[in-house]
Amino acid sequence: MSEMISKEHFTILVMAWIIFAVLLFPLLLKIKAPYGRHASGRWGPLTDNRLGWFIMELPSLILITALFLAGRGPGINILWVFWSLWFIHYFNRIFIFPFRTRTKGKKIPLLVVFFAMFFNLVNGFLNGYWLGYLAGGTGQATGTYYDNWLTDPRFIIGLILFLSGFTVNQVADNHLINLRKGNKSGYSVPKHTLFRYISCPNFSGEIIEWTAYAIMTWSLPALSFAVWTAVNLIPRALHHHAWYKEKFPAYPAKRKAVIPFIL
Ligand code: NDP
Repeated sequence: MSEMISKEHFTILVMAWIIFAVLLFPLLLKIKAPYGRHASGRWGPLTDNRLGWFIMELPSLILITALFLAGRGPGINILWVFWSLWFIHYFNRIFIFPFRTRTKGKKIPLLVVFFAMFFNLVNGFLNGYWLGYLAGGTGQATGTYYDNWLTDPRFIIGLILFLSGFTVNQVADNHLINLRKGNKSGYSVPKHTLFRYISCPNFSGEIIEWTAYAIMTWSLPALSFAVWTAVNLIPRALHHHAWYKEKFPAYPAKRKAVIPFIL
């Protein structure tokens, strides 16, 4: 498959996608994303929660893999590292996480599935196109990686941060899933160390992860993913935090939402 979009046009497209995310932020602060504890029948037809997660996350993995393999990506070692990290994250998010959640019988609005799918299509396309078609080649003109990228501070710092964010996200999600051990349903106050300072370390971990991926790849589409993740998850963390405080009168007063001691 030959290159479909020039680097210049691609850059404009990604910049527009970033601006769209920033414009959406005030709206997302107001509207609670209606899934999980904030789900409601007001948002139209519903579907099974686990199936919804599976369907809406799948395009991200398919697109990045297809574009990476169809383009020049496989010929460049460092790009395998970037693709592998994406693959590990999304393999869990699509094939493991939804089926581990104790949400049997729960529903998610089709509208949420539709919007998330759209996001994953665009995000998977932009990052896949970058890996397959624009990151290849050599030299600064193509804006790509030098032979010694593995020892570049951006790569090393990014990788360490990515693995830290991934671990925080996994440990926090595991803890939340385990709160319903023994056929419990409903919600309780998370007590794990990670939750001592913030209500949503799983979201903080995810934001760190994709910010780190942007640093490690030093690429615009990865930056757009980091921005979108923050724009999605900071409001959701604030809504979760307010919800905890309302539902649990003894909720730890010093706990913040997403950034320890700050927010
Ligand atoms: P939540 O924290 O809302 O829920 C995670 C799981 O834990 C759900 O199954 C939820 O059940 C359960 N749960 C949460 N809190 C409690 C509690 N106090 N007691 C009992 N069970 C609880 O996360 P999301 O569902 O919003 O997101 C899941 C993952 O997806 C996260 O890792 C997040 O970072 C990631 N994500 C990434 C996005 C991105 O833009 N990159 C966007 C959205 C999510 P229930 O569903 O019934 O509430």
